[in-house]
Amino acid sequence: MTSLSSLCVYCGSATGRDPAYASAAAALGGELAGSGTTLVYGGGRIGLMGVIADACLSAGGKVTGIIPGFLHQREVAHPYVTDLRIVDSMHERKQLMFEQSDAFAVLPGGLGTLDEAFEMLTWRQLGRHKKPVVFLDTAGYWQPFRALLDRIVDEGFAQDRVRRMYAFVTSPEEVLPKARAMLKS
Ligand code: AMP
Repeated sequence: MTSLSSLCVYCGSATGRDPAYASAAAALGGELAGSGTTLVYGGGRIGLMGVIADACLSAGGKVTGIIPGFLHQREVAHPYVTDLRIVDSMHERKQLMFEQSDAFAVLPGGLGTLDEAFEMLTWRQLGRHKKPVVFLDTAGYWQPFRALLDRIVDEGFAQDRVRRMYAFVTSPEEVLPKARAMLKS
């Protein structure tokens, strides 16, 4: 697989303190629409999730939202996405988001964002897939996490090869080119 027709985006169900997070999410939504890449995401209309979905849709893009029934109210399922899938559990959501996507982008977010991103990294470490994971490091948000990943490898708790599974970029425009380059390498 070397082409990228869909990108799964993990991001906060909040917008965070720095307005730069929402600006970056909106810019990435526009990039996805402009390149004809389908956005696959958690299906909500709140936080950065809502921002990226709205931006992608308003620029004419395609959006697949995947939300468990029990979160339908809490995360306010987006009424206008191109394709809304309602699933039974968080596990099913994670699995379907994984299956529907060629690569993953991780925007600033909280515990849920980290859980989802980490699972894609651990699945890849175990050889379950070869899809790239690109962290959009807006305003240096991911720097402590990047340092932790380095420490994990430096201290011998993961092999050096795991560094090839992920990358960090600082601007939304770099996400798709980086993911495409990683698919080819
Ligand atoms: P957060 O980063 O905590 O705002 O959460 C971002 C998204 O991750 C939301 O759609 C959450 O519902 C989702 N999420 C939270 N916990 C999990 C989990 N254990 N597995 C999969 N997704 C989760």
